[in-house]
Amino acid sequence: MADATPLFFDGHNDILLRLWRKPASARLSAFVEGDGEGHLDLPRMLAGGFGGGLFAIFVPSPDFGEADALMTAPRYAVPPPPPLARDHALAVSREMAELLIAMAEASEGRMRLCLDAAGVRAAMAAGAVAAVMHMEGAEAIAPDLDGLAAFHALGLRSLGPVWSRPTAFGDGVPFCFPSGPDIGPGLTAPGRDLVRACNELRIMLDVSHLNEAGFWDVSKISHAPLVATHSNVAALCPSSRNLTERQLHAIRDTEGMVGVNFATSFLRADGQKNPETPLSVLLDHVEALMEELGEDRVGFGSDFDCATIPQAIGDARGLGALRDALRGRGYGAALTEKLAQGNWLATLARTIG
Ligand code: ZN
Repeated sequence: MADATPLFFDGHNDILLRLWRKPASARLSAFVEGDGEGHLDLPRMLAGGFGGGLFAIFVPSPDFGEADALMTAPRYAVPPPPPLARDHALAVSREMAELLIAMAEASEGRMRLCLDAAGVRAAMAAGAVAAVMHMEGAEAIAPDLDGLAAFHALGLRSLGPVWSRPTAFGDGVPFCFPSGPDIGPGLTAPGRDLVRACNELRIMLDVSHLNEAGFWDVSKISHAPLVATHSNVAALCPSSRNLTERQLHAIRDTEGMVGVNFATSFLRADGQKNPETPLSVLLDHVEALMEELGEDRVGFGSDFDCATIPQAIGDARGLGALRDALRGRGYGAALTEKLAQGNWLATLARTIG
């Protein structure tokens, strides 16, 4: 087997969504024994050196498949899906939080749910996958923030106030290409309260699906570093999901970071879903981010188990190809280690403690 070090800590994956879509009785065995579907399961994580990451609780919009199909056109502006009902979002989110806890238990020590940066470090040092619970879109939380403390008690340590749809807290950025992120209004009053409450609880705030107005609202209100867990560089791929130079400078100035998203639609200059995208395109984003942010503020946020990714990686077992690509750019061992995990560990220490 190829050398699986340094381990990667990854800013975003959707394995909870992938497993949740299976019958409840099949979820844990699919994870622990591996089902070979999607990009992630425990055997493939361990084989590829997937050392840990943010595991997203995400409530899918019904019928988003059709909208997703629009994204194969050369230019597109996907209409945002309608808001979710809170009781539905709460029920699904609880199931996913409980699923993550059950996955850690069923792994018999090979995956741990981690509550702080020291826990992440210890898990990775012990060869266990370090899972941090993330919520992508806060529809499970009531506008008066009822529910936030309960999810924090279950282990929630990272939260994106919105996914790409309207919510009580603000509007997410719709999927548009080519387009900048300045689409729609910023955070609502409950959205601003949510940011303050996350600061108090030391829940990391993720700006990845915010529109530009919402991004600047978070930057004004939050005391914490600005973190985009899975976004890329708008100058290289003009997707509404990517970050402008001004946003990148704000991230730099707060000692935040960006996790490079493997989704080819956010990597390629033509915005297309195309698995034949070479890793050099992904590395160009790493390079551009290091120029804007410095080498301490860049990592990865794969979007595994959701996105169309370069076939050179394929799934978690293919992380070795990414290590080789980093070395191929002439990055030394110290820089490769920072990009793979060190920068995430430092950012987690600054945000969740
Ligand atoms: Zn996402």
